[in-house]
Amino acid sequence: MTSEQDDSTNLAKQASRRGDIGSSSEDDPGKRGSNLGWWVLAAAALGVALALMFGDSNALDATLGLGKTLFLAALKAIIAPLIFFSLLSGLLNLSGTARLSRLGGLTVSYYFVTTAIAVVIGLTVVLVIHPWTAWPPMDVPAIDPGRLISTSDGSLSTGLTGLMQAMLTNPFAALAETNLLGIVVTSVIIGLAALLTLPTDSPVIAFVHDAAKVTYKVAGWAVMLIPIGVVGIAYDLTLSADSTLLGQLLAFCAVVFGATAVHGLIVLPLVYFIATRSNPLPVMSAIASPMLVALTTSSSAATLPLSLITAREKLAIRPAVASFVLPLGATVNMDGTALFEGVAAVFLAYIFGIDLGLVGTLTVFLVAMLASIGAPGIPSGSMAGMQVVLLAVGIPLEAIGLLLLVERPLDTFRTSVNVEGDLFAAAFVEHRLRRDTDLV
Ligand code: ASP
Repeated sequence: MTSEQDDSTNLAKQASRRGDIGSSSEDDPGKRGSNLGWWVLAAAALGVALALMFGDSNALDATLGLGKTLFLAALKAIIAPLIFFSLLSGLLNLSGTARLSRLGGLTVSYYFVTTAIAVVIGLTVVLVIHPWTAWPPMDVPAIDPGRLISTSDGSLSTGLTGLMQAMLTNPFAALAETNLLGIVVTSVIIGLAALLTLPTDSPVIAFVHDAAKVTYKVAGWAVMLIPIGVVGIAYDLTLSADSTLLGQLLAFCAVVFGATAVHGLIVLPLVYFIATRSNPLPVMSAIASPMLVALTTSSSAATLPLSLITAREKLAIRPAVASFVLPLGATVNMDGTALFEGVAAVFLAYIFGIDLGLVGTLTVFLVAMLASIGAPGIPSGSMAGMQVVLLAVGIPLEAIGLLLLVERPLDTFRTSVNVEGDLFAAAFVEHRLRRDTDLV
């Protein structure tokens, strides 16, 4: 075995050896996260059991709803400052624009490659398998117009304009409105300007690092609330899945699940192996907890605090890398979402008798990728972008009514793969920069 090959096998050992990880975790969300996976699993089982035993009960709705609100409100309160200070502090650790461009280049190209593969898998699967052609087109159920949130006309230029407007916005507005894409762009621009202008001992830089530590601490408290929120989320999910799944949609769901599983279980580990020549299995087992939390919360953003803990404590990823790659990934890297949107568009085109052809298929590919970048990491965050994909290839918006019927269960798996993609990317970047011993 070469030193590269056993690299990832040693990640966990390195994590415990590295003094800096140990000491930084005192300010971090903490080591309390280690058993969280079990708590989340127990909470999800409890939520499902309560729904099956008592059905839709007002008392349960109110009590579990309270826990869910508590968790989601705490999360909403911390996520904007967490992403802002974490990214900024990660950037300021780089001490030099050359490093920033290396770290940024590695991260963005890895994200781009894996997302592109995800969409190609999705489209290949649907074009080859075509599981739904045996059925006649369905009646589209009535939709709740309140769920339609995109006002785009579906053209590529309108889509890009929307993306640009979300990215380049007043920084204070971005923070106040939790516009995550805006926060990411703002932090990168401010970080770059600070790297170019401030001396390394500037009090502003010290303030950013301290503020990041404080937000990590608060995020750690929010992480502790995850099991409380998960009981209510699993309860709601069980009740809604029970009544809404249509038989005809099952093949569509199976294709999405299958393609997402191929991406998560084969492609992501394989890309990591090819890119690093290291065994991906230790990474897979180390990231099981955040993947489980993503599965139960359907939110990459909600999982971010735990992803940060896991990266540092279980994968020995240095703070400078983790606090750059992960917040960026939770906002822009969504392989599962891109795959879902590609498959869904092809499925709905069939249902509506629209022949996509090569140009239509490529448009779906491109717009699904862009839409996944713009999708917020929250439950059903991709629905607005989904509408843009549909409009881009001329599929009536009513079609989204079909997706909404199966949206919740599908969201769980794609979010888990979204988070997996971020953590593999962080492990890859850490591997590539491991000789850069000045990074902290
Ligand atoms: N729930 C997904 C996430 O948080 C976004 C989506 O696809 O709706 O990553």
